[in-house]
Amino acid sequence: MSSLEADPEVPGPARASSETELLEGAPVALGGPRGMGVVRTLPSRHRRMVGAWCFLDAYGPHDLTGSAGMRVGPHPHIGLQTVSWLVSGEILHRDSLGHRQEIRPGRLNLMTAGRGISHSEETPPVHGAVLQGVQLWVALPGSDRDVAPSFDHHADLPVLTEGGLTATVLMGDVAGAASPARCYTPLVGAEITLAAGATSRLPLRPDFEYAILTLDGAVTVAATTLTPGPLLYLGSGRAELSLTAGPPARLMLLGGEPFAEKLVMWWNFVGRDHDDIVDARRAWESDDDGRFGTVHGYAGPPIPAPPMPITRLVPRGRVR
Ligand code: MN
Repeated sequence: MSSLEADPEVPGPARASSETELLEGAPVALGGPRGMGVVRTLPSRHRRMVGAWCFLDAYGPHDLTGSAGMRVGPHPHIGLQTVSWLVSGEILHRDSLGHRQEIRPGRLNLMTAGRGISHSEETPPVHGAVLQGVQLWVALPGSDRDVAPSFDHHADLPVLTEGGLTATVLMGDVAGAASPARCYTPLVGAEITLAAGATSRLPLRPDFEYAILTLDGAVTVAATTLTPGPLLYLGSGRAELSLTAGPPARLMLLGGEPFAEKLVMWWNFVGRDHDDIVDARRAWESDDDGRFGTVHGYAGPPIPAPPMPITRLVPRGRVR
C-alpha cells in the first residue's frame, strides 16, 4: 500500500498513563477522498515507531459490493520492508521484479525495498465480499538500507496454540515459534486470536518495546480494554503480557528493539536525510536510472510523487 500524502505522520493525540500510551490514529482515504478508508496509527506525531515498525494502516472490514475495492497504482519505496497481512479478502501484488502474488488471510507478503522497488496493489477481479487487513512498514537499519530489493510470499507461518489463544507469527518469534521471514533488526509481529472470555499470558522480551492493535472484538491488556481503532503502546521492560478477551478477539502484536537511528519518512520513502528523499523522488519522476524498474500488468498509471516541501526535511527519532 502507498502513503498518498507527502507526510504520512498523523496527529494521533496520545493519552498517556504511567506505563502505556493510547495512540488514537487518524482516518486516511487511500486514493483521495473517494478512496478506501484506513486508520493510520503509525507514525504518530509523538510516537513514530515501535521497534523498527514505522507505519501502520488498518482497514476494514469493508463490504466490497459495488466497489472497486483496493486500487493502488504503481509507486516506489526505499529503505523499508512492506508487510501485508489480511484478515479477510484478497489483494493482488505486482512488483518491478516481476512478482505477481495474490495474498490471502494467514499468508504474508513481505517486500524488501532496499535501494528501490516499485509495486501495485489491487483487489483481484474474482474476490470475496469483505476486505480487512493491515499494512505495515519496517524501517531498514542504515547497514542494510541499500540491500537489493526482494519479495517473499510466506504461506506457511508458525502457529502457536495455548488454551484459547492462537498466535500466527509473521516476523520474529513468539515463545520459540519463529517466522521464516527475513528481519534486519530484532523485532516481532504476530496476529493473535482469543476465544470469548479467554485469558492468556504471552512471554515478552524485556528489551523490546511493544504495542497492540485490536482488529476484531475487544481485549483487556495492561488495565486497558482495547477495541478496533487505536494502537496501545506498552513500552518495554515486560517479561510477559496478560490478555483477556471479552467477545472473541483478534489483535496484532508488534514489538522490537527500540530503533536508535533517526529517519526521514516522506511519501513512500524511508531515508536518512533530505537528500536521500530528493534523490529517490527524482529517480521516480524521471526513472532515468532505472532505480525503481517498471510494474507490468496494472491497469492504470503510476502514482506521481508529491512536490517536495519548501523547507528541508528533518531527520527524526522514534519519539518526540
Ligand atoms: Mn506500497
